[in-house]
Amino acid sequence: MKVPYIDLKGQHKLLKKELLKAYTTLLDRSDFILGQPVVDLEEKFARYCGTRYALGVNSGTDALFLAMVSLGIGNGDEVMTAPNSFLATASSIAAAGAKPVFVDVGEDMNLDPTQIESKITPQTKAILPVHLTGKPASMDPILKIAKKHNLFVIEDAAQAMGTEYHGKRAGSFGIANCFSLHPLKTLNACGDGGMITTNDKKVYNTISQLRNIGLKNRSESDLWGFNSRLDSLQAAIVNVKFRYLDQWIAKRRDHAAYYRKHLEGLVTCPIESRGEKCAYHLFVVQTEKRDALQSYLTQKGIETKIHYPIPIHLQRCAKSLGYKKGDFPVTERQSERILSLPIYQTLTRDQLDYVIETITHFFKN
Ligand SMILES: *Cc1c(COP(=O)(O)O)cnc(C)c1O
Repeated sequence: MKVPYIDLKGQHKLLKKELLKAYTTLLDRSDFILGQPVVDLEEKFARYCGTRYALGVNSGTDALFLAMVSLGIGNGDEVMTAPNSFLATASSIAAAGAKPVFVDVGEDMNLDPTQIESKITPQTKAILPVHLTGKPASMDPILKIAKKHNLFVIEDAAQAMGTEYHGKRAGSFGIANCFSLHPLKTLNACGDGGMITTNDKKVYNTISQLRNIGLKNRSESDLWGFNSRLDSLQAAIVNVKFRYLDQWIAKRRDHAAYYRKHLEGLVTCPIESRGEKCAYHLFVVQTEKRDALQSYLTQKGIETKIHYPIPIHLQRCAKSLGYKKGDFPVTERQSERILSLPIYQTLTRDQLDYVIETITHFFKN
């Protein structure tokens, strides 16, 4: 049996008719740039996340970058985030001209709120929590600290579409919150795309301009902008997939529960604490024997990934920030123990059983 890490072809085989219909409708209208499909998707996103506004942009990375630019974050400012995230979280801070300041994560792989306050300086402008793997960061303490020190909170919800924290969805906590529609995310486009959710009218208006060369209307501008619009084509595709989102998340949650039931004791499984609903963009287990387990699974036709093998503070691009090995012990230890198992919605029970049997076999020998 073969178990790929992800099955995009399978996903699109199932949706092909609907997607082609959406494409035909788009060709008939030909409103390719900021057309009706973008407006429709923005409405859906805002409703789903429980925010007043949503704005379609080019990518999750651009969503983060534009969120910071819209808040005036730039040269000389510091933004706190987690060193175990995908590189884009920190690179977008650097792209905005600010300095990424890392805070170690806890056992839940998200920002450890008890370590935030000691890192705050007069230059700190924002806290950028990541809901890594689709597990919510500890938003209550983070929002409390932010309020006390007058800092912005910007969520990196790229892995957290559908994640809930005490009854509220990811993307509804910060002043500007960022999603990715990259093909590997749960709600995905057939190419790049991103979304920003906000309740703040000023942020909404500013990002509306920033993503469209700074234009305020057809011919006037009062700020320099960028070209970071979400294509109508990608929005039309995501509108189709949106119909399946809750169903897909439910499937992933079922898979996670099944893995947990059969793998707990062999490997450390992710936990879901009270008040959390994890969307399981990833299902990350931990074991001291990670490398050997991964090779064994590969041999047996099971594809796995490591998100992420090199913490951002140890990347060469982060050299000027002055971090060294040992600075973030939890992040570093996890980077040697984590392994992402296949969790996509179209996995069959037979495939799940095969993964479980193979892992069980590995530990028995
Ligand atoms: C995917 C991802 C991004 C970047 O999104 P893109 O759409 O690929 O630019 C940012 N942060 C996290 C945590 C991600 O997983």
